[in-house]
Amino acid sequence: MKTHFELPKAALSVMTLLEDKGFEVYLIGGYVRDLLIGRQSTDLDMATNASAKAMIEIFNDHPLSLIGEKLGTVGVKIEDTWVELTTYRSESTSSNYRHPDEVRFIGSLKDDVLRRDFTINALALNVYGDLIDYTDGLNDLEQKRIRAIVHPEDRFAEDALRILRALRFSSQLGFSIEAQTAQAMIADQDLVKTLPIERIAAELDKLILADHASEVMRAYPQLIKPWFDYDLEALDKLVHFSDKALRYLCLLNKMGHDEIEKQLTSLKFSKAFIKMVLDLKALSLISTHDRYSIKVLMGQYGNELLDLAIRYQKIMGIAGIDPDTYQKLKSEKPAVTLKMLALNGNDLTELGYTGKEISTSLNALLDLVMNEKIENNREALIKALKKLH
Ligand code: ATP
Ligand code: MG
Repeated sequence: MKTHFELPKAALSVMTLLEDKGFEVYLIGGYVRDLLIGRQSTDLDMATNASAKAMIEIFNDHPLSLIGEKLGTVGVKIEDTWVELTTYRSESTSSNYRHPDEVRFIGSLKDDVLRRDFTINALALNVYGDLIDYTDGLNDLEQKRIRAIVHPEDRFAEDALRILRALRFSSQLGFSIEAQTAQAMIADQDLVKTLPIERIAAELDKLILADHASEVMRAYPQLIKPWFDYDLEALDKLVHFSDKALRYLCLLNKMGHDEIEKQLTSLKFSKAFIKMVLDLKALSLISTHDRYSIKVLMGQYGNELLDLAIRYQKIMGIAGIDPDTYQKLKSEKPAVTLKMLALNGNDLTELGYTGKEISTSLNALLDLVMNEKIENNREALIKALKKLH
């Protein structure tokens, strides 16, 4: 593999400015990893021996983000791109497995590299675009392998999030996890409990939505199931679902409404997302060829959800809502809600109807239209209305 690369323009500008002031700076982490394997990557992370204070001075005429300043991180916006600059650091062992007890500002790229999680995330590029590889990360990248830096057990004990990050990268990149690293992940798995659930959920979500989710979920159920209890048998189907709600439904397909709700709530999903999965679950259990019944579903759930549900039933091999009948109805665009009726509340008021009569009459008319007893036009509706009373 080549060891010389062209830097993105924004990165080069930042690096040149810092170097001109006598500082060291390297592009490092996810961007370099992704560049080497031809994967699209957006966030530019850099490591430097400049302190946050020095960075702020150098980039004071650019938009800055100072949220991470205390940890030595400053965001700089340059040529419409945000670049994240972090002072070299090494983190001591943490007491709560997440927040380092102390962040020391130190002087070398090598130390900074050694505190990172995996060798493939520890590759750096200097301002000339030359690759710097202290941990044999390039070899691991070529072998498609995720390997913890130095002593795996210590690395996961320092920060248990790395256990989930390893699984997530494996799923996103299609890389295997090197044996000792995997062993250490299993040995340290109880430490994941010490992490905030939001962080666990965020990593699991990325894992589940990535291309190689089924391989990872098949290989490491003991690490994932304590947080998300999926159906191993459904993993073969997972690749067919790019929609997020369907992916989750597929993994939870054996569960009933309440269990699904419990699982997704425990992972802090939004109410709207949980409702979507539950609606899809309800739809997935329906089997019908009947035009009227399908119209009722179209009115109640909307076509977007029905499209998903029918796709789900097809892939899961469920004889469900008849796709041909549904497609035909979709092109016919029949009235399936009161809003779509050619007569509305105002019309009925003008015709002398009041109070509850209005909604009862409109609903009765909609039902007649949906049953294809009358056409959805004013004349037919008014005629039918008179017959109702
Ligand atoms: P992504 O594609 O998800 O952005 P990334 O590798 O860039 O992947 P980030 O979370 O953006 O991941 O972190 C940037 C870099 O910081 C990583 O590549 C890694 O070197 C280091 N890093 C991030 N999180 C950790 C961690 N928990 N422990 C050690 N190093 C970490
Ligand atoms: Mg990143």
